[in-house]
Amino acid sequence: MPIRFRSEKLQARCATPDGLQTTIRSVEVRYDPLLGTTSRIAEGVKLQTRDAAALERFQLQDQSCPFCAERIGRVTPCIDPKVSDEPRIRAGETMLFPNLVPYSQHAAVAVFTSRHWLSVSEFSSKLIIDNLTACIRYIRAVYASDSRARYCAWNVNYLFPSGGSLSHPHSQVFLDPVPTTMMRFQFEAAERYWQENGTSFWEDLVTTERERNERFVWDLGSTAWATAFAPIGFNEVRAVVRGRQTLLQLDDADIAAVAAGVSRVLLWYGALGYDSFNVSLFSGPLDGAAWFRVNLVMVTRTAMIPYYRSDSMHLERLHWEAAVDCAPEGIAVKLRDQSDLRSYALTSGHPKTPWQ
Ligand SMILES: [Zn+2]
Repeated sequence: MPIRFRSEKLQARCATPDGLQTTIRSVEVRYDPLLGTTSRIAEGVKLQTRDAAALERFQLQDQSCPFCAERIGRVTPCIDPKVSDEPRIRAGETMLFPNLVPYSQHAAVAVFTSRHWLSVSEFSSKLIIDNLTACIRYIRAVYASDSRARYCAWNVNYLFPSGGSLSHPHSQVFLDPVPTTMMRFQFEAAERYWQENGTSFWEDLVTTERERNERFVWDLGSTAWATAFAPIGFNEVRAVVRGRQTLLQLDDADIAAVAAGVSRVLLWYGALGYDSFNVSLFSGPLDGAAWFRVNLVMVTRTAMIPYYRSDSMHLERLHWEAAVDCAPEGIAVKLRDQSDLRSYALTSGHPKTPWQ
């Protein structure tokens, strides 16, 4: 198996304040096995956790929230009738409509529920299944009307530290003729890997991670979950949907598996004291790419507390290099050991599947 997990362990030395002793601190630089980008696991980095009092005002009803039930049908835009007969796509509690901010040629917001506030632990599998189902229906409709828009992803920014502008829980889905930088990096590296090895990087990664059992967390149906060797964010968890190249290829069982995993990880994030997070579910080009597998990345962000310190500094913003506090192997052990997650998935209200 050609996947390499390469790292360098460095030491930073300084003298104690009295100048009498030497202090040694460690930093490990890890290379992403697909992209070759580097990440730093550094002693002393710390992500701030929840302050319950700071959240109280956001949990109250907000008379100006455009996503609450009283306003959503009046103030949100409708989908172009050339794209969909449905002006807004509904699936379970989710309602999807176009994004007013044109980040992409086609962009939509999918509100998870009419409830104005969800804690991180309340993103149930059922809510996520409905949301993904609505977004995939949108992707199918858009792509049928615009075949140039073949690059797409499903994303969540939750609460302000993640970049979210409204606290009412919602996801964002986009299709565009131009891939984002990360998508392009994934495509180029995965196609090169395919040409050199004749296999998909992500299928090999799952096999390798499962065998090594250092970062592997779960198999859930068609999905495999593990922490990242070279993380780009705090408490990062990744997943691969085996055998699926694009979001349009996901069937109901795949969607349920993705949703169950996201819901479990969020429950754990909540238990750690984090309330803000990002998720991206990456798709290969919609016209097909044998070398690609649908894959997911999710990270915690600084908790929403007054005067919080952003977890994105010069390293992340300007050097494109993450610095995180915990080794991914330790995160995998803790996540696997969350025995309450299994009972949560069993009671979260979506159809029983063999892997529950
Ligand atoms: Zn609201």
